[in-house]
Amino acid sequence: MQCPRDGTDLVEERMHGIEVDHCHTCNGRWLDHHELDELEATKGDEDERRGTIRFSERDSELRCPVCGEQMAAFNYRAYDLELDTCRAEHGFWLDAGEEGQVRDIIDERVRDLKRSASAEVAWGDFLNGLGGRGGGGAWDSVRRFFGGGRR
Ligand SMILES: [Zn+2]
Ligand SMILES: [Zn+2]
Repeated sequence: MQCPRDGTDLVEERMHGIEVDHCHTCNGRWLDHHELDELEATKGDEDERRGTIRFSERDSELRCPVCGEQMAAFNYRAYDLELDTCRAEHGFWLDAGEEGQVRDIIDERVRDLKRSASAEVAWGDFLNGLGGRGGGGAWDSVRRFFGGGRR
């Protein structure tokens, strides 16, 4: 298999435990179709990887190294990161450094999801605190505050 950018023979190598085809000229990498998911899995679990990966799809200047057809370029998860993929699902082309950006984006999603999850927990604790300490206290003041006009 040859590099879609410069025609160099790709060399199979391990990256984060995944077999990828690496171009030593441009430092790009070819990932089989399922391997992008495996790359994401090195950073996040299934919840964090849910959702659409391909946004604003358009024609790529590159041809698929497997079937030779023109590939599609797209914005990875709507971020400012352009990846190329074969429309026949042969795989993804990642230019030099893009595999690191994919991992950074998944990191960011993991952080965002944790943040919103902990905000929900904090809100739940707050409500429990209001209801839980029987009788007077905070809950009564809240009720007085909201119900004051109806009495
Ligand atoms: Zn290359
Ligand atoms: Zn293809």
